[in-house]
Amino acid sequence: MSQPPSLRLKPHTDRRLRIGHLWVFANEVDVARTPLTGFKPGSLARLEDARGKPLGLVYVNPASLICARVLTRNAKATIDQSWFAERFRQALRLRERVYPGGYYRLLFGESDGVPGLVVDRYGDVLVAQSTTAGIDALRDAVEAALQETLSPAGIYWRCDAPVRALEGLEPETREVGVIPDEIIVPEAGRTFAASLKSGQKTGWYFDQRDNRQLVAQLAPGQRVLDVFSYIGGFGVTAAVAGAQSVTCVDASEAALELAQANAQRNGVAVETRAGDAKAVLQQLQTEQARFDLAIVDPPALIKRKKDIAAGTHHYQQLNSLAMQVLAPGGLLLAASCSHHLSADAMRGALRKAAAEAGRKLVVLAQRGAGMDHPVHPAIPETEYLKAFLCAVEG
Ligand code: SAH
Repeated sequence: MSQPPSLRLKPHTDRRLRIGHLWVFANEVDVARTPLTGFKPGSLARLEDARGKPLGLVYVNPASLICARVLTRNAKATIDQSWFAERFRQALRLRERVYPGGYYRLLFGESDGVPGLVVDRYGDVLVAQSTTAGIDALRDAVEAALQETLSPAGIYWRCDAPVRALEGLEPETREVGVIPDEIIVPEAGRTFAASLKSGQKTGWYFDQRDNRQLVAQLAPGQRVLDVFSYIGGFGVTAAVAGAQSVTCVDASEAALELAQANAQRNGVAVETRAGDAKAVLQQLQTEQARFDLAIVDPPALIKRKKDIAAGTHHYQQLNSLAMQVLAPGGLLLAASCSHHLSADAMRGALRKAAAEAGRKLVVLAQRGAGMDHPVHPAIPETEYLKAFLCAVEG
């Protein structure tokens, strides 16, 4: 195979990469020597420091602010099916060690050494997401390596994440093999039906698995409120654990129908309220409804850096409203999946939310995503999920 062309960095820009980060920003490239415009989106290059010393292999996208991502530190490697298969086997070993049974996020992009690629495994069905031109270009090798590692019945490419726009990519989906309309996800003795094709994101939120276990532990005998319930991940878990009552709130009627069906499939019942979370919380307050445990798990409210202030305020408002319907001594599990919202900022928002609600709050535990979403110690973006368990006094 011919040598990939060089991508040369400016002086002093390699430090972050040397300590383990995998991203190269467009302003770090010595474009006089290696113009970015010379690269096709998704093409491979040999990354070099300012002196020409090789740093590894990257894929390049001149249309993106993150103009290159490191695939390997070995500049002589060949990126092909067997290269991917080796990474996939490693990721699979890790997942089967922490959550045996075949249902998990199998690949979590940068954390698993495959920047831009996320794969969720539902038994013998895989849902793959590519968020970069680099992975789009390598899709055949990725697919062949997934076949080699797992021989799945189907691979559903669900490449419709909005972040693709940052790479100049259109949303697209593709079915390889057999993709059922509905899949059943087993989790700690419960089962959930999720829809891979019409569901949100990849159909199921594996990242909250351990936090759902926490809710199972705290729910017996309690009145539980699950805000942004989606298809009942937390709510049905609480009901199965023996909650006195469960109310699921979501803007999506379709999601709530599935939440009801999921309750039934597990032999329990939940009440549902369709509507905007804030409006429903205000309505519950008007009705003087009271709960002992509330979960607030909104979609990412901060998508871009410039939305940090407004988004943080949004988290504050939602959690303040939730606190207002908590009985004294009630528990609140407040989650954020916005990587732009730091744990400190989230704690600050909760403090303000409590002040606004006239309540006293202490944090009992700070949690993150499950172990199938490993955090890369040099890449803060991989630590996106924060969940604070709080006790809220009167
Ligand atoms: N807690 C869920 C995941 C939540 S995903 C779990 O663990 O599985 C976010 C959910 O928020 C989606 O179901 C979406 O329909 C819902 N949603 C988005 N905006 C909303 C709004 N303004 N009010 C109520 N629900 C909303």
